[in-house]
Formats: sequence, C-alpha cells, structure tokens
Amino acid sequence: MLVASMNPCPCGYYNHPEKDCVCGPGVVQRYLNKVSGPLLDRIDLHVEVTPVSFDQMTATRKAETSADIRERVERAREWQTKRFEAFPDIHSNAMMPPQMVKDLCRINEAGRLLLKKAMEKLGLSARAYDRILKVSRTIADLAGSEEIKIEHLAEAIQYRSLDREGWAG
Ligand SMILES: [Zn+2]
Repeated sequence: MLVASMNPCPCGYYNHPEKDCVCGPGVVQRYLNKVSGPLLDRIDLHVEVTPVSFDQMTATRKAETSADIRERVERAREWQTKRFEAFPDIHSNAMMPPQMVKDLCRINEAGRLLLKKAMEKLGLSARAYDRILKVSRTIADLAGSEEIKIEHLAEAIQYRSLDREGWAG
C-alpha cells in the first residue's frame, strides 16, 4: 500500500481557510504537475487535508470510535472474500480486472449520468473511471449496501480531486 503526501503549493497555504497563498499565477499548477498524471491515476484516494481550527479541535462532538471503524472494515473485507471466492488471485475490490469491474460494479442510470458528467468535467481517464467504480464498490461495502448508490459514487468521484483541472485553475 502506498500512502504519500505533498504540500498544496510552494508556500503551503493554497486553499488554507485563514491564510493567503502568495504563489504567483500558474505556480500552483506547475507545482502540482511535478507529479505526473499517470502516477496520480494509479492512486485510489486523493484527500485534501485542510488545517484543523481550534474550535474543531476542542469540539465535543463524538467521532466514530476506532473499534467501530474496525468492525465496519472487517465486515466489508468479509463481503469481498465471499465475492471473490471463486477467484483465488483476487482478494479485494482493488484487484478486479476491467471486465470484472463491469460485472460487479453495476450502477443505475442516474449513477451513469453522474459519472459521465464527472468524466467530462474533470477530464478523467479510462483508468480513473475504473478506479472510481472500484472505490464506490468499497464505499458501498463499508455502508453495508449490496448496490452501489449514487452517494457512494459521488463520494468516490470526490477522491479524484487531483485529477481536476480546477484544483489550481
Ligand atoms: Zn502558495
């Protein structure tokens, strides 16, 4: 598993909720372009992490516990073990070859339209398309849902934020 992180721009404040980015025009995009598109394509989840404010840090709202999350993940893994029982080389949604993605990651018409729009607007590659379907299958598994619902798909699309031309556009 690969986990990597980078600054949003050379000064570090791009999209910061309180501080201003001082990078000149085009600098942020050039900075992002140091990571090649084909490499970004192969990373399943792009997550932008903005600084946590003092109010958020001290908020009393209870987060989901690690034990609860663990249980949810284990259940999703069990589903996947069952799903790929007949395929000894495949253990998780991420390992599905393209044809299997077509069979096992079916989406309804509303989902198809959402994905089409996202592909066009964000300029996504065919590889990113397959990846969105696999990630949405996992999000559905984590939610305990047999079918991939539109909200699962929408969440998966959101994890392609670095593919977006609009990141620094
Ligand atoms: Zn900056």
